[in-house]
Amino acid sequence: MTEHSAFSKEKKIGSLRRRNILFGGSLGIGSLALGAATESVAARSDSNSIHWDKEADVVVIGSGATGLPAAIVAREAGCTVILVEAESHVGGHAIVSGGSVVLGGGTAAQNKFGIVDSPDLLFRDLTDWSVVESNGFPDYRYNDREIIRAFADNAALTCEWLIAHGVVFIDIAPDSLDGVSSGNSAPRAMHAASMTWPKAQTGKPLPLQYQSVVGTGAGLIGPLHAAATASGVQLLLEHRMTRILREQQGAGPVLGITADHHGQTINIRARKGVVIGSGGSTGNINFRRMFDPRLTAEYCGLAGMPWSNQDASGELAAMAIGASLWGLYNQTGEFGSVLSKAGFIGCQYDYMPGSDMWILPWLPGSVVFDKARASGLRVANWQDLILVNILGKRFYDETASGFSANDYGSIKPYTQGSYLNSKNLRYSPDNFLDAALAGIGDNHNGGGPIWAIFDSDAVARERWNTSPPDVDYAQGFFFKGNSISELAQNIQMQHQRLPMPPENLEATVARYNSFVTSGVDSDFGKPKPMYQIATPPFYAAWATPAIHDTRAGLRINARCEVVDMNGAVIPGLYCGGESAGGFSQHGLARATCQGFIAGRNVAANNSPA
Ligand SMILES: Cc1cc2nc3c(=O)[nH]c(=O)nc-3n(C[C@H](O)[C@H](O)[C@H](O)COP(=O)(O)OP(=O)(O)OC[C@H]3O[C@@H](n4cnc5c(N)ncnc54)[C@H](O)[C@@H]3O)c2cc1C
Repeated sequence: MTEHSAFSKEKKIGSLRRRNILFGGSLGIGSLALGAATESVAARSDSNSIHWDKEADVVVIGSGATGLPAAIVAREAGCTVILVEAESHVGGHAIVSGGSVVLGGGTAAQNKFGIVDSPDLLFRDLTDWSVVESNGFPDYRYNDREIIRAFADNAALTCEWLIAHGVVFIDIAPDSLDGVSSGNSAPRAMHAASMTWPKAQTGKPLPLQYQSVVGTGAGLIGPLHAAATASGVQLLLEHRMTRILREQQGAGPVLGITADHHGQTINIRARKGVVIGSGGSTGNINFRRMFDPRLTAEYCGLAGMPWSNQDASGELAAMAIGASLWGLYNQTGEFGSVLSKAGFIGCQYDYMPGSDMWILPWLPGSVVFDKARASGLRVANWQDLILVNILGKRFYDETASGFSANDYGSIKPYTQGSYLNSKNLRYSPDNFLDAALAGIGDNHNGGGPIWAIFDSDAVARERWNTSPPDVDYAQGFFFKGNSISELAQNIQMQHQRLPMPPENLEATVARYNSFVTSGVDSDFGKPKPMYQIATPPFYAAWATPAIHDTRAGLRINARCEVVDMNGAVIPGLYCGGESAGGFSQHGLARATCQGFIAGRNVAANNSPA
């Protein structure tokens, strides 16, 4: 069929359906496009019609770990593809990530290094409900079996597909580093070599000697961005999807999307379908509080921001046309990697540095540094400070870890499916947020800001620079005082909703200093408290946890089709990654794999709108 005859047929279908089309908001002034994903040429004027400004077989929302694979797969299957990205740059959280991709199921790299794995073993691992995390929360218990089966069957394929599209994995045996909830039976993590791709955090590639031996998200997204461009995916930056258009509310196929481009509303028709890869919901305060009411506005340092947000726009747009959410316990339960202990303090975006020195803070070379404003101070030794809550009270052993995870070898001995596994865990009171909430009692759900308090001797030991751009005085994420009392009075910022009582902070510091003298922290058991906080000036640095992952979202099936509240597929709507529910796993593996699956299935959709 020629492009023109295809167009004529679809135009008829479209004009019939337009009478019943569900839409809202302002419709753009536009026209119908001919075949390819290019600017439209013909205008419509009927007030009941949608004016399609652009048109393609497939429209993908978001250029991250889900969206890029989906777009490339669909394009290479012969579809025209428009990829809309809200930001002025590609990559989403994926490009700022550490680039550890925990696929497995029998990858070439596993085979090369003699690691035994298979789709069945991967499936059994990720549905093993005998496993709990060290804080006692069940990990894999609420994974949807259908979704995990699809992942297990496609994980190794996705891995080979990534390699075929330019991703270079560091040539070492797969390990368990930086993978979270990836199963206990086999090491599966591979690390995308950063190569010459510039890091989002710095705007520069890594030094030459590290490029093939250090993994970064840039090493994953750089090649995929290049492959998408080379294959002819039309990438529309600064196009924020605001609405998904469906024939009728709760019925009929998805027809396309509405996007906002610098205040202009445009309608983009998707003949075969729309793929949601918008990255999750943890940046939307009202949305995330449906899962966890404690996550009030002060948790404003979402990991991955300010490069991109997770504003729930994909979830909300799909729910508005009938989609269901799924596996909500996966978000409600406090799984390890959902909340991160701050690693860089004194700045808003205080994502943990972890053991990976290359997950760096934001530096002035980054194109988003004007939004990040400060790099923060990396804490090398948690003996150098105390953490206090909004009222100036300690609540925690500062040297305690962040949050734990279940990965290869984390439970020893481990017997798959055995209820005895839990006996091999040391249940840890790692519940940072609840600890911070304790004793506040001001009828507010959130714990309030958490501040790191230290003196100038600590600054010298850590070799910190307490001036901008390392710290953010201007927006109230860093304060200084010549006495502890003055410091407490100086702490005034948007999220410090109660003044910090100076006498509280004075008492806290005095008590802590007495623990240093006695060598015993009789409150929280910090091992041998080492340094008094006694030499002015004194400092308070923002150390509130970063929210990290979205682990629940839209209901999908094995084909990554979005499912409605009645359990029926919404024709032409697909989703993967952090906007999809049913799969409690951190990160890139499920996103790339589901992007791969969604791209394949949307391309094969032969019942186009
Ligand atoms: C600092 C950091 C380190 C990490 N390290 C790792 C790691 O080493 N290994 C691992 O497995 N995982 C890691 N992760 C997690 C991993 O990056 C994410 O889970 C993954 O990128 C999610 O993929 P996604 O496609 O769902 O979302 P993203 O990759 O975030 O992509 C979503 C995209 O959609 C765009 N978007 C959102 N809304 C709209 C809209 N309305 N219209 C148009 N575009 C929109 C966003 O701007 C973004 O570009 C890390 C995350 C962070 C933040």
